[in-house]
Amino acid sequence: MSHLGDPDKDAAKAKDTAVRDGKAFDLEKYLAGKHRMQPVAEYLAAKLGKPVTFLPSCMGQKAAIEALPAGSVVMLENTRFHKEETSKDEAKQEILARELASYGDLYVNDAFGSAHRAHASTATLAKFVKVSVGGFLMEKEVKYLEPMVTNPPKPMVAIIGGAKVSSKIAVLESLLKNASALIIGGGMAYTFLKAQGVEVGKSLVEPELVDKAREVLETAKKLGVKIYLPVDCVIAENRDAEAETKIVPVQEINPQWMGLDIGPATITLFTEALSNAKTIVWNGPMGVFEIDAFSRGTQAVAEACAQCEGTTIIGGGDSASAVKKLGYAKKMSHISTGGGAFLELLEGKTLPAVAALG
Ligand code: AMP
Repeated sequence: MSHLGDPDKDAAKAKDTAVRDGKAFDLEKYLAGKHRMQPVAEYLAAKLGKPVTFLPSCMGQKAAIEALPAGSVVMLENTRFHKEETSKDEAKQEILARELASYGDLYVNDAFGSAHRAHASTATLAKFVKVSVGGFLMEKEVKYLEPMVTNPPKPMVAIIGGAKVSSKIAVLESLLKNASALIIGGGMAYTFLKAQGVEVGKSLVEPELVDKAREVLETAKKLGVKIYLPVDCVIAENRDAEAETKIVPVQEINPQWMGLDIGPATITLFTEALSNAKTIVWNGPMGVFEIDAFSRGTQAVAEACAQCEGTTIIGGGDSASAVKKLGYAKKMSHISTGGGAFLELLEGKTLPAVAALG
């Protein structure tokens, strides 16, 4: 069983877009392409080389399952078609969890990417089966990520990028405890630069987090953690593949332009800062890497990580896909499959799905 997207939320959004664009919206067709598990069952059957019985719901399937011969493989429909899966009401979650538990004797959870969610199929279910264990992926993720907050091989250098400080502030604060250096890139760097009094033009800034950013810089100083921020950047008038670009020191960002990638001097600085690391943890791109003109910083950091002889941990969808796209995946110690789960584990939080096992 698995969830696959969020049918209600995703369909509502897709429908709104269709209505806005004056296009027809066929709910069943939309769900069939993105949320139904039938194609996954077919894929699994091909991989296993044996039939996989697809059951169109997570409820009321006990008789169908019991009627199958021993050794059969069954795949259930997307768990999130049931409101109970994500319900805040524990009693409602338990209805689905008990039903799922009645289908088997052993529960193996290998969904690290959902491990930060306390849902019926990810955590509550464990209460109702005799034995619940983590799968091989779950084991690998926890084995690599937990030591990052307890006792990583040092020096550890953390690289944090991506769009917003707000989504990464907790992880920044947690990493400060063990890192010898923190490299900050991506859109979030501009809130930190602003905190240092740099005028950043139209670059992404979260004004309400400027004080918090200043606090992080002060804490880092007290703890002796070196902070590396961009010294130059690639700027453009807008976030557009066709836009004219310039490379400028961060102090010289035109008031009408925005920083969309780190510049060459910053690449040298960051690469140098990574050169002696025994552990590197990286989350979040250094720029708008989806557009070629602003992807060089992310590429360069991926290259620097690939050259590290110590442990390299890559987390979050964007950094992971950048590393894979560039062909460096094999050079990394671990590429996490978690976005939110990766961040929460690095924040030092206990993941509900991991806590529920046993
Ligand atoms: P996150 O999900 O927080 O890791 O953010 C990833 C997103 O950050 C990507 O879609 C990037 O395009 C975006 N991003 C990275 N650097 C910048 C920047 N300088 N300005 C605006 N967006 C950025």
